Amino acid sequence: MSATPTTPPPPALRPYLTARHQRLWDEADAFAAEHVAPRAARMEAAPGKVERKVADLMAARRWFAVTVPSAFGGLDAGHVAKTILIHRLARVSAATAAILQATLIPVGALLHFATYEQKNYWLPRVADGSLLLSIAVTEPQAGGHIGGMKTVAEHAGSEWVITGSKSHIGNSHLAGAHLIVARTAETGVSTSQALTAFMIESNRRGLSISRHRPGLGLHGFTAGRLDLDHVRIPQDNLIGEIGQGLAVAQSSSILYGRPNLAAVSLGIHEAVMATTTARLKTRPRYRSTLSDLPVLRDRIGGMEARLRASRILTYQAVHLLDQRLPCDADLINAKYLGHQWAAQSAQDAMELHGAHALDRDYLLQRLWRDIQHTYPPAGTGEVQRIRLADAAFHEDHIQWSEHLAAEAAWARPDPTAA
Ligand SMILES: Cc1cc2nc3c(=O)[nH]c(=O)nc-3n(C[C@H](O)[C@H](O)[C@H](O)COP(=O)(O)OP(=O)(O)OC[C@H]3O[C@@H](n4cnc5c(N)ncnc54)[C@H](O)[C@@H]3O)c2cc1C
Repeated sequence: MSATPTTPPPPALRPYLTARHQRLWDEADAFAAEHVAPRAARMEAAPGKVERKVADLMAARRWFAVTVPSAFGGLDAGHVAKTILIHRLARVSAATAAILQATLIPVGALLHFATYEQKNYWLPRVADGSLLLSIAVTEPQAGGHIGGMKTVAEHAGSEWVITGSKSHIGNSHLAGAHLIVARTAETGVSTSQALTAFMIESNRRGLSISRHRPGLGLHGFTAGRLDLDHVRIPQDNLIGEIGQGLAVAQSSSILYGRPNLAAVSLGIHEAVMATTTARLKTRPRYRSTLSDLPVLRDRIGGMEARLRASRILTYQAVHLLDQRLPCDADLINAKYLGHQWAAQSAQDAMELHGAHALDRDYLLQRLWRDIQHTYPPAGTGEVQRIRLADAAFHEDHIQWSEHLAAEAAWARPDPTAA
């Protein structure tokens, strides 16, 4: 699908969009048409290649700093703005959107947990485009069970020494620094106090990154493995307090990971819909086209219902976040249903395209493969349902949206100012 230069926001989203948001929407569409669309086929044709150029182009626009306060050189544009960028890019290339969103999760963690000095050290480099980040929590054996992680950080004089492995780390090959969560307490200490977060530069001795192995989809994006063999880092690289690692990982997954993945799914969902309606409108059947067959229109109606609902869920959730209202369950739900509905529509679309869908290099295959990648990150479907059941029983543990909004980093004064 070739991207139209700009498609205005649908009226249903206007309550959430300011004039600045609308400009960013147009800017993202124009960027996607000019820079991403021509690369998307090349990225698909070379799955073993890490796409750096598109990351450089986004960095030059300071999009990796969309949520970074202006005091640190960022755009200070908030969560709706972040969603616009990810969503509009994902329509054209989910891999490109994935590159953007993977850095924006650790940026969020730094905003909430780093000291002023640490923010001042890391964020201006993200803002000027010279540094991309990753967040590294998942491990080969522990998977989504954070409490089962084995990576250990030990205090040695004025340094920390970290050993272990992390897997499926988004932007593993592009990030110049990784926000890593490691165990800092003995076995038996509760997970909520046993883990700690650290920033680790990618060129630290003892840190190695496995060769990029392409996955089913998202070609151009990397989600690889990091191995840490006694990596030494200074005390200054500890983020938050000792024992706050679970809070860093969970809060950034809920406040940043969930809505980011909802936006990627939404972009893919829109592309699925556009590809399918275009196909049915041009495929001749009897005296007309497939788009006139009632049974197929019924399926398109179902897809359109899911797409419209996904849009509202995604934007409403991040709007609430920008308004600093409690919205953890809304963010979780947007990710959960956003993926599920897009995957269902992608499957319907494969069937509606008939054998043509199976032709090599056909766009729909890429969309179908890419949507499989939004299920595991930032919580699988099971994890989301567990959290949503907690909300139903009023057993939510911490409302991160409420808890961290109160102490939002950008709301705090610069302690060094006179
Ligand atoms: C594209 C992509 C990007 C990613 N980016 C990152 C990243 O940047 N940083 C990072 O740290 N990780 C990242 N991940 C990893 C992701 O967070 C994990 O895949 C996820 O946490 C699940 O872990 P797992 O795949 O090992 O599955 P497992 O934990 O092995 O789970 C397998 C299945 O069992 C279910 N299951 C497991 N435990 C339970 C339970 N207690 N109750 C009910 N069901 C359960 C799961 O829902 C799943 O269906 C990424 C993954 C992908 C695909």
